[in-house]
Amino acid sequence: MQGQDSGAKRARTVPQKGGNVNQPQVEESSDPYTVEAEKIRCDICFQPFGDQIFMCKNGHPACASCCLTMNRKCYCTEPIGDIRCRPLETILEAMTRPCSFKAHGCREIVSYAGMQGHEAACRFAPHHCPFDGCTYYGLRLYNHIQVDHADDPAEAAVVVRCNQRSTITLQKKMPFRVLLHRDQASMFLLVNGGDVLAGRSLSLASMGPRPTGNAEVKYKLEVKKRNDPEALVLSSSGAAPFVRCLEDFQAKGFLFVPNSYWDSSDSVSVTVHLTGGW
Ligand SMILES: [Zn+2]
Ligand SMILES: [Zn+2]
Ligand SMILES: [Zn+2]
Ligand SMILES: [Zn+2]
Repeated sequence: MQGQDSGAKRARTVPQKGGNVNQPQVEESSDPYTVEAEKIRCDICFQPFGDQIFMCKNGHPACASCCLTMNRKCYCTEPIGDIRCRPLETILEAMTRPCSFKAHGCREIVSYAGMQGHEAACRFAPHHCPFDGCTYYGLRLYNHIQVDHADDPAEAAVVVRCNQRSTITLQKKMPFRVLLHRDQASMFLLVNGGDVLAGRSLSLASMGPRPTGNAEVKYKLEVKKRNDPEALVLSSSGAAPFVRCLEDFQAKGFLFVPNSYWDSSDSVSVTVHLTGGW
């Protein structure tokens, strides 16, 4: 809430009764209130409230989705989900603050309700380098990967294009491979999940930037068994979830590649086909 320029509202001309000549009146300016973010979160899920807030008769507030998941019973056992907490809704509607990534260059002033959506897509949000031991955190991850992770063959990125197939060699011990799009901006991770019995689970994550108007990039992964044209071709497709940090990635689905598909040097060839409107 701080840092807003309320100067535009400080002086305005107020019409006078009786046809008098308008005289400028100066309104007193007042500093905005500040409120700690933790104080305005749902009591149950601890997430910021959405546009509807409910309360039980004891005054405990809860967001709409918590009313449903709690079967419309507050933690104090009173019913919840019928009575809206309008005063709190009105206050939150009027609250604005600069984007959390202001220090990285974002100049947006965002409302309480729009904050989550804005920050999830904010192009000024920094990214963490996915390589173990690398501390890079910034806005130029694509460039950082190109410059600082090009020499080690295990870390070198593969350049891919949209609407074109790229074949990537993946070693069983590699936790991921970096895919850099030729647009010099978009970046993906082919993630090699090592947590499946008798094989590996492969999936794709997008490290942004998000395609405009479309939150996810579509992809298709294909693995053929080397030296065995008769073997089943494994494939799966889906939308690549967007992450800014590899640790945040949770695959929605994956391609299971059984141990028998990995060759004697413990590698497979993965064909990646990216599609999307960017
Ligand atoms: Zn909640
Ligand atoms: Zn209650
Ligand atoms: Zn922003
Ligand atoms: Zn790095």
